[in-house]
Amino acid sequence: MRKVLALIFVFISLIVSSGAPTTSLKAEEVVDVPILMYHSILKSRKGEYILSPDSLKNDLVWLKDHGYQTVFVSELIDFCEGRADLPEKPIVITFDDGHYNNYYYAKPIFEEMGFKATINVVGTYSEFSTTSGDFDNPNYSHLTWSEIKVLQESEYFEIGNHTYNMHNFKPRYGIGKKPSEDYEAYKKSLTEDVSKLEDCFKDKCGFTTNIFAYPFGKYSEESYEILSGLGFKAFLTCNEGVNHLTKGDASKLKHLKRFNRSGLMTTEEFFKHAKIY
Ligand SMILES: [Zn+2]
Repeated sequence: MRKVLALIFVFISLIVSSGAPTTSLKAEEVVDVPILMYHSILKSRKGEYILSPDSLKNDLVWLKDHGYQTVFVSELIDFCEGRADLPEKPIVITFDDGHYNNYYYAKPIFEEMGFKATINVVGTYSEFSTTSGDFDNPNYSHLTWSEIKVLQESEYFEIGNHTYNMHNFKPRYGIGKKPSEDYEAYKKSLTEDVSKLEDCFKDKCGFTTNIFAYPFGKYSEESYEILSGLGFKAFLTCNEGVNHLTKGDASKLKHLKRFNRSGLMTTEEFFKHAKIY
């Protein structure tokens, strides 16, 4: 009986020792990263794309209490290109459209909490606020070029490209190709538009970015080909879901998913909706 047991033990040991594939990735090389998408922060009203400053603060306190650490989109690029690691529970916070109220309400909260966010700005909005003189109303102003420079140079914010003037429904839907347009004409329009915003960043703020947020989440294989050809490396969609990133695999940055933070939900409802625990 003892001999039989010993044989069974040897047999099981053989199965166990041969069971682990030698090419398996280490746990820290595959990381789940949720990305959150905010827009306006206002006290005066709330909506699908407008959240109160108190709710924003609640979100950040909730994340801190649950052990999350914010990272920039650029840190996801570093990880996916194999240059850096991510913290144990990473999360990315993004703000779209470059509202001045991000500067007015969100900036002090992020500084107080030591949190980071990536702000994706629209060139025409920032140009208008800079040149019109209407630059300091949280209800409708957008970030001026000098505020964008301040944000990019701070340790709590970085800036992404959300097109110069393609954040529209007409004559095309976001960066979508017009039905009548051939590939070359489309490539020229898209290239000129996003390059114009990069030139503004470079000339007025002293930096360039390789982060791109698709207006209204509209994208295609063609747009990816054109934008990656221009040097963009991380692409933010509006598709909901958690991102499964692998160290050294830059293809994972192609269609990054994000959860829209609706102002109509409480902090608890939102994180339950996003399955973030
Ligand atoms: Zn937008």
